[in-house]
Amino acid sequence: MQLIIPDYIKTIVPYPPGKPQDELEREYGVKNSIKLASNENPWGPSPKAIAAVHEAVATLNRYPDGASYYLTQALAAHHGLDTSEIVLGNGSNEMIEFLVKAFIREGLEVICSHPSFLMYEKFTQMRGGRCVVAPLAGMHHNTEAVLAAITVDTRLIFLDNPNNPSGSALTPLTLCDFLARVPEHVVVALDEAYIDFAGPELHLDIHALIRGTKNRCPVVFLRTFSKAYGLPALRVGYGLMPREIAACLHKVRQAFNINSLAQAGALAALNDQAYFRDIVARNRRGRQFLVDHLSRLGCDPLPSETNFIFFDIHADADRLYEAMLYRGVIIRSMRAYGHPSCLRVTVGTDEENTRFLTAIEECLREIRA
Ligand SMILES: *Cc1c(COP(=O)(O)O)cnc(C)c1O
Repeated sequence: MQLIIPDYIKTIVPYPPGKPQDELEREYGVKNSIKLASNENPWGPSPKAIAAVHEAVATLNRYPDGASYYLTQALAAHHGLDTSEIVLGNGSNEMIEFLVKAFIREGLEVICSHPSFLMYEKFTQMRGGRCVVAPLAGMHHNTEAVLAAITVDTRLIFLDNPNNPSGSALTPLTLCDFLARVPEHVVVALDEAYIDFAGPELHLDIHALIRGTKNRCPVVFLRTFSKAYGLPALRVGYGLMPREIAACLHKVRQAFNINSLAQAGALAALNDQAYFRDIVARNRRGRQFLVDHLSRLGCDPLPSETNFIFFDIHADADRLYEAMLYRGVIIRSMRAYGHPSCLRVTVGTDEENTRFLTAIEECLREIRA
């Protein structure tokens, strides 16, 4: 065999997922572990979504509806947009991939923040594009640094708002000021995976920003069913965008990218807004509980607009991460993100939050001794 692999593929380091629970239980000999590492919804999806998936199983011998007609219609109604302004992806990850496929080739540039979601950079590398990084300032997106990084080769800017891993969000005022200053040839993708958990004052006027592209850069909003809706295993995300961009992204997608179980489950989840609101409220209470207790433990949690909390133990984060694994609690060390004394924990159920706090209190005592 003689492989000729492009350098831009050779140098890609695969995305590091959170430690799977089976693996932890095998390696560390612990039982009843809890995973607070991947920002999942610990209460699960609406029971109506589960029922809809069960029902859809009966049609597995048929190809899915390639247009995801009913889900697209429902999303259009939900957001007050036209179906021509919506594209569905196999997770919002696929939406990121579509944008990069459509706009980036070798020699072209993408700008994103650091630390931020790693997939913006990975997909850019897969196309041989260049990812230019603007470091966060005070754990917020640094819009001035992003603007300063724009060149004639820039095609895309990815901003996760709220940001993963800091949990911070920019205000609509800051964002609109920023968008007004981005050149018209650059597409700005606002990844709103966590916006459902943010306060109403942080929601942008999607309709105005998508339609108002005269003399302004186009904006794409990325949303997902993986977080507040609790359906990450189904893989459904979507983008809201000017119709010209939507038409372009449809050209780079597979005809059947959203499977039938996913279409049915996401539609039922979207239609159960009462359940959705309850999840958001539970998250808000759990988040406040964790912030209060992490503060009491001297861990300086950052204010969070999401379902996770970034905190600083002022000691080796990898050591705490390891010590927590022995107690069956999986969280994330932020060393790989450039913050060696910080960690990120996802809001769990009340029981999980209490277990996390008991374990971290013991571990901190060990580490600080
Ligand atoms: C979790 C997450 C997503 C969701 O990805 P899916 O492919 O929709 O599961 C997107 N963006 C960010 C920043 C995330 O943290």
